[in-house]
Amino acid sequence: MEILHDYSLGELKNLIEEMGEKPFRAGQIFRGIHSGKKISEITDISKDFRNKLLERFADSPVEIIGSKTSKLDGTVKFLFKLWDNNVIEGVLMKYKYGNTQCVSTQVGCRMGCAFCASGIGGLVRNLTAGEILGQITAVNAYLGGNTDKRQVTNVVLMGSGEPLDNYDNVVKFIRNLSAQGGLNVSPRNVSLSTCGLVPQMLKLAEEDLDVNLTVSLHNPFDERRKNLMPIANAYKVQEILDACNVYFKKTKRRYIFEYSLVRGENDTRECAEELIRLLKGRPCHVNLIRLNEVKEKDLKATADKDAYRFLGLLERGGLSATVRRQIGVDIDGACGQLRRNYLENNTELENGMEEGLF
Ligand code: SAH
Repeated sequence: MEILHDYSLGELKNLIEEMGEKPFRAGQIFRGIHSGKKISEITDISKDFRNKLLERFADSPVEIIGSKTSKLDGTVKFLFKLWDNNVIEGVLMKYKYGNTQCVSTQVGCRMGCAFCASGIGGLVRNLTAGEILGQITAVNAYLGGNTDKRQVTNVVLMGSGEPLDNYDNVVKFIRNLSAQGGLNVSPRNVSLSTCGLVPQMLKLAEEDLDVNLTVSLHNPFDERRKNLMPIANAYKVQEILDACNVYFKKTKRRYIFEYSLVRGENDTRECAEELIRLLKGRPCHVNLIRLNEVKEKDLKATADKDAYRFLGLLERGGLSATVRRQIGVDIDGACGQLRRNYLENNTELENGMEEGLF
């Protein structure tokens, strides 16, 4: 099956002409699907044409098959089904300034970070640009939004998968997300998180996209970083910092380091001092995350008081840093956790969950 959300407006015009229809239909279809409608629901085109499209394209790029809402902070986790029955997850976080959606870029992941549930089972497949966008059009519509009235204002590529390991589709997704006539979400409201794939970071700097760059660091020492992130065997911290520098020069956008605190691994004074040495004076911010313990992994979270002690060290050393507010801890908040629990059949969802997918 093909995904109609993969098409830019220009590509859609060509496709529609090839199919023997008037090109102005492209705008109607683009607006319709970006508002979250299924192809079968776009009633301003003829039924015959809808059926012709449905011979080739999936009716919708993803389908929400369940959700879980945090009683603590209103965060919602979603499970989506793809046309081939693969399942991915996403999160909607509600802030005063708007709603931020966290999207997945791959089914599974091949980076194999020691603390992360998304990588268990490896990479299943890349998502297409339209399947990434479809997560947003579906949730925007679920919240009563459309292309004129946007309910999702900010997007973070921090769900399952390594975005820069699916480079072309992710860049295309960001361009289509910001398209006029579609959801028109500015790349400045999009944050892309990478484990540090240096060549792709440099390539991204050349795209003229102005997306916010976030890098998962988790340890300032190369040798010890390898314990948590196998990708550290390929790229050194210094190479990552150099790439961030290039990115900043091109985009003038401050970058962020993610640092998930793992007890005894990366929360020592020595680590704090090395972070200060490496990062002081750079246009960056350090986001300390309390490890979300995953049952398949035996890594332990740093205690809250130690996380704040670590924060104090960084701040006194002149870094801009925060401890990230914990959200959705009661709803399998960690990356890949809800999907894993769903695949293992031991999670309860609010919405009618389809039986017999697996
Ligand atoms: N592949 C991208 C996106 C990953 S998810 C990347 O590596 O940046 C976003 C962040 O959550 C990453 O920093 C990731 O390392 C972190 N993360 C994953 N699982 C976690 C867990 N169980 N607890 C805390 N942080 C986690």
